[in-house]
Amino acid sequence: MRDLILGQVLSYTADPFATGPQAAQLTEGLVVEGGKIIAVGAADALRRSYPEAMVTDYGTHLISAGFIDAHAHYPQTAMIASWGKRLIDWLNTYTFPEEMRFSNKTYAEDVANRYFDLTVSNGTTSVCSYCTIHSESVDAFFTAAAARNQRVWAGKTCMDRNAPDGLQDTAQSAYDHSARLLSKWHGQGRASYVITPRFSPTSTEDQLAALGALWAENSGCLMQTHLSEQTDEIAWVRDLFPTARDYLDTYERHGLLGRGGLYGHAIHLEPREKSRLAEVDASLIHCPTSNTFIGSGLFDMGGLKAAGHRIGLATDTGGGSSFSMLRTMAAAYEVAQLRGRSLHPSELWWLATAGSAQALHADHLIGNIAPGLEADLVVIDLGSTPAIAQATTRASTIWEALFPTIMMGDDRAILDVWIAGRRKV
Ligand SMILES: [Zn+2]
Repeated sequence: MRDLILGQVLSYTADPFATGPQAAQLTEGLVVEGGKIIAVGAADALRRSYPEAMVTDYGTHLISAGFIDAHAHYPQTAMIASWGKRLIDWLNTYTFPEEMRFSNKTYAEDVANRYFDLTVSNGTTSVCSYCTIHSESVDAFFTAAAARNQRVWAGKTCMDRNAPDGLQDTAQSAYDHSARLLSKWHGQGRASYVITPRFSPTSTEDQLAALGALWAENSGCLMQTHLSEQTDEIAWVRDLFPTARDYLDTYERHGLLGRGGLYGHAIHLEPREKSRLAEVDASLIHCPTSNTFIGSGLFDMGGLKAAGHRIGLATDTGGGSSFSMLRTMAAAYEVAQLRGRSLHPSELWWLATAGSAQALHADHLIGNIAPGLEADLVVIDLGSTPAIAQATTRASTIWEALFPTIMMGDDRAILDVWIAGRRKV
């Protein structure tokens, strides 16, 4: 069966940071078959070429690739918007007690299902998530994603120091359990396993080395961790690794720096760290609602993009304060404003779709609307609230029509979601 989906179809031919807003284009429709996009173009031409297709006409509503959240902690779903802490206190006060609960399979399944319901209702069709130390949390995540046929990335979070007893593994068990989960889930349907040391303060050098070895043996996998989120954290890393050149070196010396490495936050980077990250083509993941909420600092989107870094956008749920990639784009705009760079709506939207896909090395699969890509779509109502609708009445370009939704939109703007060619909402 073929679907012909009509509306204002937004896609990209290039990175708007490099070529400007003209990197985006608007067309009138796309055709979906077998979970993939097979044609994009003018409505009349598509109707003529595919007369048998089932037509879904969204009128003037906007059709985009679904949002891709490149860094989240699904186990922190229930503790989102917890008050008053900075990174280390926040982990000890809120995160670790909640993550302890994921040894319980039923609890993990309940939260995983709730997490996917919440993110899909916000237009997010793919996520890259941390789990907890427990294998149950990984199984629950991938099982819930498979039931929805979503393209996802995740891995068991490894920690063998500076965490409560119930949340610690060892260098060996981190390696063994990660390897077992990797062989169980990686490449199953739309699932990809990600090797996941939480961050240097909670892993010994032995554990980092074990996970570096696992990555070397499975170089087709991504590796995710955190880097230079807060200045207190960086000082702690300096104490824990007195011979390291800098924070990044704690990963680099253990085989945890490379292409396919995802480094969350990356706010307070040294010049050497920036040049090494660019040199190996690592991915930096910007989590703006988290960075303001936990008081971490201002990511240098303008400077890092200009230097050629591969950058994705993410909520960092629940350090981030929203499940919505619209709210996340708004926060990215605000953070960049505070650094003197006004991100164009085409750049913000690209970050939440094609940019995150590139960061996850999946832009040949998702993140854009083009023949051959998987049909993960979000349909946006550009006048979803009275405040947004009145702000767009004088819009003369798609960007003027879209920017109020970026800044003020939420799940009410999500009219529909398609996952692998199937309509979900
Ligand atoms: Zn995180």
